[in-house]
Amino acid sequence: MSDKPLISARDLSVHYPISGGTLFGPKPVVRAVEGVNIDIEKGSFFGLVGESGSGKTTLGRALLRAAPITRGSIDYDDGEVQYDLPSIDDKTLKEYRKRAQLIFQDPYAALSPRMTVRDIIAEPLEVMGLTNSREETDARVREIAGKCRLNLEHLRRFPHAFSGGQRQRISISRALVSGPQFIVADESVAALDVSIQADVLNLLKEIQQDMGLTFLFISHDLSVVAHVCDHVAVMYLGRLVETAPTRELFAAPRHPYTKALMSAIPSLDPDDRGKAQKLEGEIPSPTNPPPGCKFQTRCPYAIDICRKDEPKLESSGTAHEVACHRWKELMEDHALEDA
Ligand code: SF4
Repeated sequence: MSDKPLISARDLSVHYPISGGTLFGPKPVVRAVEGVNIDIEKGSFFGLVGESGSGKTTLGRALLRAAPITRGSIDYDDGEVQYDLPSIDDKTLKEYRKRAQLIFQDPYAALSPRMTVRDIIAEPLEVMGLTNSREETDARVREIAGKCRLNLEHLRRFPHAFSGGQRQRISISRALVSGPQFIVADESVAALDVSIQADVLNLLKEIQQDMGLTFLFISHDLSVVAHVCDHVAVMYLGRLVETAPTRELFAAPRHPYTKALMSAIPSLDPDDRGKAQKLEGEIPSPTNPPPGCKFQTRCPYAIDICRKDEPKLESSGTAHEVACHRWKELMEDHALEDA
């Protein structure tokens, strides 16, 4: 894995205006992503986790330039091209689309029922003008379908003839056909039966290693992320609250929210049952976030400073960063170990 980030974002914010407010007062906005700094190393399988409503899908789309960027910078550098994403023009954006692709969550909704599998996979090549002849297109479609474990005979059929796992392999083939470097996989196994999730996850990991791709893998499920990712960022109410190499994060989480998410993973060990730290309450509205630490309304360790000052992501000289006023103290007290 190269040390140079493929994608580097600083102070990245995505706000959506909504109706309401007073005539002379500020217009209300949904702060879906707020002040995010993130580095995704080239060749990594980078996990982004958080509850529904944490802003992870919006962040993934902002990195694809598929969500409006309110503030901040995103630099993309794959060794061949460099882009300053928020300021690229439409022509350059089309070039970027060849290099950065999305795999959707729902393989049922993502595929046109009226197109054959061959045409579904071939469409991006034709739209982006990446081949010169039907033969060239067919050869590329066959190559990618083979990598995604689809048979040649599958290419003549329509999506309704396939199971969820096979449909997701069609979606993956479509995302890969333009030869991208960066893939955002948004809850790409969430809609699948547990029995086939591992199959699709293994395929994604195999493809990533085989083709040298960089993945941003978005999931609400920490056990899935632990299985495939080498680095993880935890998101809460539009902010990153912890980021670390996967092993380090799972061995010693520093943020009470990360610990609570981990506690929710079902354990097969009867001694561990009942130790789960239940996450009380709902995630606050991104239109009206609480002052100070955004997790203070649900955190069992909140004190006065948490209600006033927002903690910034900080590291202690390692790749493990956390945004919590009390993380050192909680670690010293072993508060997060069996909470
Ligand atoms: Fe909890 Fe305070 Fe840390 Fe926020 S800063 S996670 S409220 S202890």
